[in-house]
Amino acid sequence: MHAAELIERKRNGVEIPGAELREFVAAYARDELPDYQTAALLMAIWFRGLSSAETFALTEAMVASGETVELAARLGRRVVDKHSTGGVGDKTTLALGPVVAACGAPFGKMSGRGLGHTGGTLDKLESIPGFRVELSTEALIRQVREIGLAVAGQSADLVPADRKLYALRDVTATIDEVSLIAASIMSKKIAGGASALVLDVKVGEGAFMRTQEDARRLAEVMLALGQEAGLDVVCLLTDMEQPLGCAVGNALEVLEAYETLAGRGPSDFGELVAEAATQLLALSDLALDEAGARRRVTESLVDGSALAAYERWIRAQGGDPDPERLPRAAVVRTVPAPEAGFVREVRARQVAGVAMALGAGRQRKEDPIDHAVGVVCRAKRGDRVERGDALGEVHASSEASADAAEAALLASYEIGDEPELRPLVLDVIR
Ligand code: URA
Repeated sequence: MHAAELIERKRNGVEIPGAELREFVAAYARDELPDYQTAALLMAIWFRGLSSAETFALTEAMVASGETVELAARLGRRVVDKHSTGGVGDKTTLALGPVVAACGAPFGKMSGRGLGHTGGTLDKLESIPGFRVELSTEALIRQVREIGLAVAGQSADLVPADRKLYALRDVTATIDEVSLIAASIMSKKIAGGASALVLDVKVGEGAFMRTQEDARRLAEVMLALGQEAGLDVVCLLTDMEQPLGCAVGNALEVLEAYETLAGRGPSDFGELVAEAATQLLALSDLALDEAGARRRVTESLVDGSALAAYERWIRAQGGDPDPERLPRAAVVRTVPAPEAGFVREVRARQVAGVAMALGAGRQRKEDPIDHAVGVVCRAKRGDRVERGDALGEVHASSEASADAAEAALLASYEIGDEPELRPLVLDVIR
């Protein structure tokens, strides 16, 4: 393989044979190719795209760059997993895992930290006092066998090529290309060893995919990659114009997941958890059809078994599940509605920016985060508010940061005369 010549062919729109693409990725993963040539190839791919065969070869090469976990084979069960393409206030795993486990399907998941403006599940879990996110692969398998549920940080040995490529894409404006995103996500899922996967593809201004058309294309590429690898995949296209649920910020999101399992959560978040859990159970080895799966999910929330599964899981990883023990911010400020009307927009990216400025997220990988801070959007799209009603809350570490956040949260809202109603689940693609 001649790297410069391969880059030139891709730049000119010529399809690259799978074997050559695999060789390129393997060489880069072994540090035998420089970042500048790989960056040039990524940019050529960004402009030219990848064919299905090229996308599959890229995904295979990424899987082959590290270890693979035989999760389902080791447990002798079908193991289900879920992945979100990244959104604002997306704490779905925290409630979905316990629901699925309480219904009897093993749920073993490796999660990541926040990317860009989106929060990461590991950061949220680390706001729980004592919770350990680092589990060896053996410990993860043991825990799923014993209590049906484990969520851990992704092992450094799993798809090391994605770590390097992602870091390079992040600084070369090549994140938002459908084939590259699909290969990045699906390589980690294939290497992680689940049998079935629900992919939550977020759509809207708070997501990587801004339009339904782009989200559908991403879903279709990921479905095809799953099929090639023998992984059953269902994609949900879900709205990310406004944050999911109310809370944005680590401990606040853990609290909201807990409240949802206790039957007191926001309705949109509850709806997504129920839909994703239903799809996962229908893909599991429990022999449930969709209607039976939906009934089982509702029962687990009503009879308290999903909440009990959450508590077992948090304890198994060293954490204290009591929500009273979560860190709290020094300043909690209510943001009142300046006028009466209907909430028409709660702009997700702006809300994420407010939470970020309060210290809930990272600008750079090595930045520390404040688990206690964030925002709670009490009023969501379609809600009627009177002047002075609480639109939201700012949880800040100081009065000064609360002042700035209050104004910025208010600016994320649009209030009008007519309600603006859009569904949360836009489509289910299988
Ligand atoms: N999430 C990933 O894991 N990879 C991407 O490329 C985008 C979102």
